Amino acid sequence: MASSFSGSVKAELCRNNVQRQCCARAECFGVLLFCNSFGPAGVRIITESREFAQRLPKLFKRAFSVAFDQAPEKDGAGKLIFQITAPEKIRLIMDQFGFSPADTLALYVNLPVVEEDCCKASFLRGAFLAGGSVTDPAKGYHLELATTHLSVCRETYALMEEVMGFYPKTAARGGGQVLYLKQSERIADFLTYLGAPVAAMGIMEARLEKELNNKVNRRCNCDDANTTKVVEAAQEQCEAIHFLRGQGRLESLPDKLRFAALAREAHPEASLTELAEMMEPPITKSAMSHRLRRLTELAEEGKEAST
Ligand SMILES: [Zn+2]
Repeated sequence: MASSFSGSVKAELCRNNVQRQCCARAECFGVLLFCNSFGPAGVRIITESREFAQRLPKLFKRAFSVAFDQAPEKDGAGKLIFQITAPEKIRLIMDQFGFSPADTLALYVNLPVVEEDCCKASFLRGAFLAGGSVTDPAKGYHLELATTHLSVCRETYALMEEVMGFYPKTAARGGGQVLYLKQSERIADFLTYLGAPVAAMGIMEARLEKELNNKVNRRCNCDDANTTKVVEAAQEQCEAIHFLRGQGRLESLPDKLRFAALAREAHPEASLTELAEMMEPPITKSAMSHRLRRLTELAEEGKEAST
C-alpha cells in the first residue's frame, strides 16, 4: 500500500520531526485514541505505513521514554504490528492522560493534553496516522478518521471546528465512529494543517485539472450538433417577438402566429419539436419553423417601415 495516496500522505506527515515533548505526547494521544486498541489490557497499533512504523518508537520514546514490547522487523512489509503489554508501561501512559487502568469509564480527549496550538495539530496528526485515510483525488474526495470511542469522536469533532473553522461529517460504522470530509478544499486545508502541504497541493491540482477538462468537454458538446446555430435562431426569434410586442402588433396577429410567439417567448430554450408539441392541436416541426420564420419576417418589415 506504499504507493497509495494515503500512504504518500502519511509518509509526508512523518517527515515532520518529533520535537517538543508536549507535541510528542499529544501526537501519541491521537495515535492511541484512533489506533486498533488502547485500554487497561494494553496498546495495539497496526499500520501499513513504513514511515509511520519508523516514527512510532521515536515518538513513544520522546513522549514517555517507553519502548514497545512487540515491534515488527526493521524492513517489515504488509501489516506492521506494535504492542505494549507490560502493566507498568500501560499505567504510566494512562496516567499521562489522566486515566487509570482501573477506570471502567470510556476514554475521552483529555483537553489539557491538547491545550497548546502546537499540540492540537500534533494530536490530529497522530489521529490521522493511526486511524485515517484519504482517497486519491483522481478518484474522488474523501478523508476520514476512524475511532472506536464515541466520546473521542465527539470531542475531535469539536476540536476540528475550533482549529479549522468547519465541522467534519460523522457516521457510525461497524461499532466505531467515523469523522469525514468530502470537499476538496477542506481536505486540502486539513492536510496542510497536519503538515502535508505537498499532498494538499496535489488535491487542488487534481481539482483544477478536472474543472478544466469539464470546460473543454462542455465547449466540444456545444460545437457539436449545431447547438450554437439553434441557440442563435431562438435568440433572433425572441427579439422579433419582443419587437412586435413593443409595437403593439402581437395581439392583432392571427391565432396561429400569436400562439407560436407566446410559446417561444415562454420557452426560449425549447427545440422546434418541443414547441410544435405545445401547439393546440400539435403541429409538425416544419410548420412550427414556418410560423417562427413568419414572425421574424414581420418584425423585419416592421423595422424597415419605421426607419
Ligand atoms: Zn506542543
